[in-house]
Amino acid sequence: MAKKQFKAESKRLLDIMINSIYTHKEIFLRELISNASDAIDKMNYKAIENPDLGLTRDDFRIDISVDENARTVTVSDNGIGMTKEEMDQNLGVIAHSGTLEFKKALDEGAESSIIGQFGVGFYSAFMVADKVTVVSKAFGSDTAFKWVSDGVDGYSITECQRDSVGTDVIMHIKADTDAEEYGEFLRSYRLQSLVKQYSDYIRWPIHMMVESGAWKETGETDEDGKPKEEYVTATEDKIINSMVPVWMKKKSEEVDKECNEFYKTKYRDFEDPISIIRANAEGAATYRAMLFIPAKPPYDYYTREFEPGLQLYSNGVLIMDKCEDLLPFCFRFVRGVVDSPDFSLNISREVLQHDRQLKAISANLTKKVKAELLRMLKDEPEKYKGFYAGFGRQLKYGVVDDYGSKKDLLADLLLFQSYEKNELVTLDQYVDSIKEGQNRIYYVSGDTFSQAAALPQTEPVKDKGYDFLCLAEDVDGFVMRSIRQYRDMTLCDISNDDLGIEGDEEKKDSEAKQEENKDLLEFMKEALGDKVSNVKISSKLKKHAVVLSSEGGITIEMEKYFRTLPDYDGSMHASYVLELNDAHPAFEALKKAFSEDKDKAKKMAEIMYDQARIISGLPLDDPVAYSDMVLSLF
Ligand code: ADP
Ligand code: MG
Repeated sequence: MAKKQFKAESKRLLDIMINSIYTHKEIFLRELISNASDAIDKMNYKAIENPDLGLTRDDFRIDISVDENARTVTVSDNGIGMTKEEMDQNLGVIAHSGTLEFKKALDEGAESSIIGQFGVGFYSAFMVADKVTVVSKAFGSDTAFKWVSDGVDGYSITECQRDSVGTDVIMHIKADTDAEEYGEFLRSYRLQSLVKQYSDYIRWPIHMMVESGAWKETGETDEDGKPKEEYVTATEDKIINSMVPVWMKKKSEEVDKECNEFYKTKYRDFEDPISIIRANAEGAATYRAMLFIPAKPPYDYYTREFEPGLQLYSNGVLIMDKCEDLLPFCFRFVRGVVDSPDFSLNISREVLQHDRQLKAISANLTKKVKAELLRMLKDEPEKYKGFYAGFGRQLKYGVVDDYGSKKDLLADLLLFQSYEKNELVTLDQYVDSIKEGQNRIYYVSGDTFSQAAALPQTEPVKDKGYDFLCLAEDVDGFVMRSIRQYRDMTLCDISNDDLGIEGDEEKKDSEAKQEENKDLLEFMKEALGDKVSNVKISSKLKKHAVVLSSEGGITIEMEKYFRTLPDYDGSMHASYVLELNDAHPAFEALKKAFSEDKDKAKKMAEIMYDQARIISGLPLDDPVAYSDMVLSLF
């Protein structure tokens, strides 16, 4: 019978698995048990849909058996099984997310030691076995099939015998080598402890023939008349997992540890979650939930690959693996489980989206997550800062997304760099330490905190002794525009907004200056053409000669962000305003040239404009021309 070839990418992955030097080879068991559990979930679902089948929850089981002489470990289930086509499909190619992600990470140069982070799935059996046989009979099919592979060479599928629906995965454990020991996986106690460690929460019973021994009375007595005892061993069929889902267990230190294990195994994280949120509600909506806040974003968090969503169970039956409607998008980093008897098993995604019950649960969970983050911010600020380093960007995106509809939920969770305190502060902390007479929340954007803090426009705010927030992330400008007001205070962009610092006198003064220099400003504007939309005498500059600001909806920082987008076509740009300091010697020189040598004044205008671009961190349109122009003045 002809062997089939694995698809190319599967082959490569298999090769990695077979030759794996990964130290946590034992995860193969967790993966196979998880597949068995998935298959039973599916069968259980069928059983509920079709009561005629006469199957109940108690009928389902997973069995682990060992044959030390044949060196095999078998994981069996009476789940949904696989047809011949499904075997070909599911075991012959990389079909699913975890393995695919793993392969992608490897292609991008990651070390194979990162295996544990991914749901490496079925192929992980090849880390410990040199031959794997899968015998399966699918629900609704009369024929069973056998899939056999001894690695990269390929696999074969033939018809075989299996009485009932379900699947056996038989692993022929590798021989020990000098470097690696595989025999441990043939020892019952080792397998038991692996089940305890990784699969205890699996909701289906995992059975194993377990040898136990005890001293028993023989019925005879010794010389002293004492009953004689002998050590009797017996093997019995035992359930080796506790089967209680972690979210059903009462909180305790022990259970917290289990929850952490559950989290790490289920969501492939190395680190414990920084928070576990439990909820148990009855009434309008009845549910239990266990939510986890990860310490750090997974490697693919800010990509399209990341799949958010909580697992939704109904009375212990999984009805949706990634239900995205249980939490708002901005909290998509939260992992966990919701179990509610209120949902019917065959509810579709579409119907679920509009379900009232679901909306009520979602509203509650959102509140819980928010409350937990606020608690952390208050009680464990360092921990919160760690969280914020990874997920702050998500919270900011959340403010901007969806037309700012979540800004009230998120604004008090944000942190910004304070110029005065030189550390991250909340908007509340900023407002609480506001100065007498100050009625705005000032912020300024730059490429880095220190560059933002040093911008010439900040001088009047510094002179007043007001604190301001330094922003350096591309999304920040959008966030501030979206929030606009916080606790009755207007957010003020130092570079582009009216600072509200000038008194009436100063305002009049400033208007007079524009008038006084009208011709020069007009000339500058003409000289610069469509590069600028306006040229004016600045009210913000003290020591420095020029600065660029913008008018209209797009600020310079926003333009910089647009420039980073791959399909930037130049259309999204700020309307620049060139601001001049009339008290600066450069302005005097400009004025002189304007009256004596228009050509020179034109050159100066261009240089001033380019200088201002440099200060703003914008690229020069023509760096060579700029340089030539500066040096021509020598
Ligand atoms: P994943 O579990 O992430 O889908 P795996 O590599 O673990 O990926 O398994 C691949 C596929 O093989 C599964 O999606 C499932 O369709 C099928 N499969 C594996 N084990 C079993 C099993 N015991 N019973 C039924 N189908 C199975
Ligand atoms: Mg799997």
